[in-house]
Amino acid sequence: MATEVKIKEIFESIQGESPFVGTKQLFIRFCGCNLNCDYCDTNFDAKDAVSYTAESLVKKIQNNYDLKRIHSVSLTGGEPLLHAQFINEFVHFLPDIKIYLETNATLTDELLNVKDKIDIISADIKLPSSAGKDTFDLHDKFLENCNGIYTFAKIVFDKNITDEEIKTCANLGEKHNIVLILQPKMDGNKMSVDNDFCQNILNKFLNIYPNTRLIPQVHKFLNLR
Ligand code: SF4
Repeated sequence: MATEVKIKEIFESIQGESPFVGTKQLFIRFCGCNLNCDYCDTNFDAKDAVSYTAESLVKKIQNNYDLKRIHSVSLTGGEPLLHAQFINEFVHFLPDIKIYLETNATLTDELLNVKDKIDIISADIKLPSSAGKDTFDLHDKFLENCNGIYTFAKIVFDKNITDEEIKTCANLGEKHNIVLILQPKMDGNKMSVDNDFCQNILNKFLNIYPNTRLIPQVHKFLNLR
């Protein structure tokens, strides 16, 4: 029997984070998450979500969106890798479009289940000072297994970021040879830290790992989802 999952929302928008900022994407938000970050403001509960099989979800998006103008389909959440089996089935029906996985980078076994279906990985590296938990070892193992796929890591920070965290993240970036994207935590539509603080944090990263960029959440400045 085909796997069914609950999808919280499907929408077209502009990617507002990452090296792919500005690209048009179709976002598919999965329900549920295995983490519980202090700063999480995403509604991914199953209330009001709609159940789909892989085939019915593909039909839904083919009937409602012009995929020719879409750069990629973003699988987001919650944590989409909680639904690895479904992702395998879903992507099978969509061979001609790039698949962009937004993940908290902690579920390595699940990644290995879908790896050959994914084109781009946006992996979060969570900071204990802002997310409230230490998941560095899980990120290290996850990133070790992203080889062969274009991968970058996003680091949400606030005023509590420590020098030790900066060193750990920069070392992870260097070890796995990936772009690091520093993203100031937002309070509503405003950055929670000022420009000088951001520059200072970026410089500290650059002193250790030059392949680091600072990109605020552009979609919030544009008033987009
Ligand atoms: S991993 Fe993402 S979706 Fe899950 S709790 Fe943390 S911020 Fe929220």
